[in-house]
Parts: sequence; C-alpha cells; structure tokens
Amino acid sequence: MRVVSGIQPTGKPHLGNYLGAIVNYVKLQEEAQAAGGECLIFLADLHAISMPHKPAVLHAATLEMVATLVACGVDPAKAILFNQAQVPAHAEMQWLLNGTARMGWLNRMTQWKDKAGKNREGASAALFTYPVLQAADVLLYQATHVPVGEDQKQHLELARDIAQKFNNDFATEDAPVFTLPDPYIPEDAARIMSLRDGTKKMSKSDPSDMSRINLTDTTEEMAQKVKKAKTDPEPLPSELAGLEGRAEALNLVTIFAALAGSNPQAVLAEYGGQGFGQFKPALAELLVSVLEPIRDRFVALKDDRESLDAILARGASQARELAGPTLDQAYTALGLVR
Ligand code: ATP
Ligand code: MG
Repeated sequence: MRVVSGIQPTGKPHLGNYLGAIVNYVKLQEEAQAAGGECLIFLADLHAISMPHKPAVLHAATLEMVATLVACGVDPAKAILFNQAQVPAHAEMQWLLNGTARMGWLNRMTQWKDKAGKNREGASAALFTYPVLQAADVLLYQATHVPVGEDQKQHLELARDIAQKFNNDFATEDAPVFTLPDPYIPEDAARIMSLRDGTKKMSKSDPSDMSRINLTDTTEEMAQKVKKAKTDPEPLPSELAGLEGRAEALNLVTIFAALAGSNPQAVLAEYGGQGFGQFKPALAELLVSVLEPIRDRFVALKDDRESLDAILARGASQARELAGPTLDQAYTALGLVR
C-alpha cells in the first residue's frame, strides 16, 4: 500500500480541510504503516506558483501548513511529510511526462478552463501543465492509493492516460515503468459547507471569514462563528429526511457528527426537537474541544523553524529515495544518456 496525497499551501486551513482531508491522512498513515507500506503527504508548493502569488506569503503559508498538519496528527515518524520544492524529482518527472501528455488532453481539463477563465492568453504555462505535475507527483512513487476529492478525479484520469501512453510508447508490457494509479475515495469523507450559505462548500478562497472556521481561530472566534451561522427557525427533526431542503441545518448536523465521530442520524436521535438556541452551544462546545488542542499544538510549533525544517528535510530525503528508481527508469526508457 503506497498512499500519495498533496495539499496546496495557499490560505489558512479550515474545518472543511480538516474533516474532509487531514483526518483522513491521519487514518491512512496508520493503515499504511500497519500494511507495511508508506503514506506520502506533500505540500504542493510547486503547484502554488501556477497562479499569481506573493513569495513571502507562499513561504510563510508553506511552513504554517506543515505546522498545521503535524498539529492535526500527521506524524512525521509514520508519514513521509515533505514539500515538492525539496524533491527535484517532481519537477524533473513533469518535464519527462510533458513529452507524453497531449495538448488536447490538457485543453479538456475543467480546472484549466475554470481557473484560466476568459484570459487564456494571460494564464501561466504552469497553470496549463499543472495536471502533468500532478501526474508526476503520483507516478513517481508508483502510488496505489491516491485520495482525491470529486474535483480532482479528472486529473487522476489524466495521470492514468499519461502513464498508459508512456508505458506503451517506451516500455515493454512485462516491464512497465509506471503503475496506473487508482482514485481512493474514503467512504465517510465529510463535505463541509459554508456557514453563510449551505449550498456552497466551505473554502479558503471565500471572501467572508465568517463562512468558515479556521483551524487557527481563537476559541471566542469559533464560538462566535457558530452562533452567527445561518440557520432556519425550525427545530431539528428527529429523522434525517426532515433536513431535506434545509442545507444550513444539515451542514451543522454533519459537522457535529463528523467532530463527534458519529453520524447525522445519531445526532438527530439526540437533538431532534431542539431548536438552534440549544444545538448551537452544544456544537460550539464540541468544536472547541476538538480544535483547541490542535490550535495549541499549532501555536507551539509554528515559529519553531528548526523543528519545521527538520521535519521537511527528513521527509524530503525519504521521498527522494523512493522516487529515485522510477525517475531513473523513466530517463533510461526515453533514451536519455546520464
Ligand atoms: P481553495 O478555495 O483555494 O480551492 P479549499 O478550501 O478548496 O481552497 P484545497 O487546498 O483546495 O482547499 O483543498 C485541500 C483538501 O481539502 C482537498 O483534499 C479538498 O478536497 C479538501 N476540502 C476542501 N474544502 C473542503 C470542504 N469544504 N469539505 C471537505 N473537504 C474539503
Ligand atoms: Mg479547492
């Protein structure tokens, strides 16, 4: 079992990132270790330069994301935690795969169309070839499990197409260079919605800070955001079906269940019939009890540059070792003299 997953160090990590992705990393690092495999978690800092960015902000956000992941329970002794910029194999492999990826394939990527918008001429070349770097990220390690959200499924399909064409064109059937990666969709991944609009996902890029709980918020800010969260005047139903058409209420129940390690039906069995005047304080209390220790660990680590550097250096050295053989094989398969 070889798990590979990346997270971009842009903006502040929030409750949606935690419940939708980071909690899952913590589980997967245990599963990979138990199976005698590896769990690689990387900061996609090379991806982050595909959009306009401020160097100082990216630099600080990268270190903050490492501190956040460790505070959330990603354990550098169990997972291989690193940033792409310290493992040159990612950029090298992307270049090698650029020879195999087709313009037509990249042109069809919906994220490219969305992010470039009408200004394709002005978009960076990196934004266009972003999915090739993503293919390099997973193919370098012969990943077997690639946790992805709905929005990244198309890019993983592309990684499979690139791997298949490369194997076809440059390798023999009994000695393929790349493993075709499979998407790994955890069965109980929570999708957390905005606190201001239950139909929009909670997101770093939402301009309203009241729409999300940041993992770095103070206890008072967390409580205040729950208190101000949009709701409706009805009490909670005791059955899940009663939440239909009540996106904001469903979101708060989903958050409660995810934080309690329970499920929405069980939460309703307990809180059905109660209004938000009672439910919100219970939710705020639960939220603070889960996130406060994370924030405290984050605060203790975030300015400890020596520890953060040591974590990244160790992870990078482990990643370089794992990436080496596949990178060598790819160079050789292409006929490059080294
Ligand atoms: P941006 O708005 O810049 O895209 P984001 O909030 O969507 O930021 P990402 O860095 O794109 O965050 O995502 C990091 C990880 O968190 C991904 O695995 C993504 O699927 C997951 N994630 C992001 N938002 C949510 C959410 N609201 N609920 C559950 N998972 C989420
Ligand atoms: Mg996103």
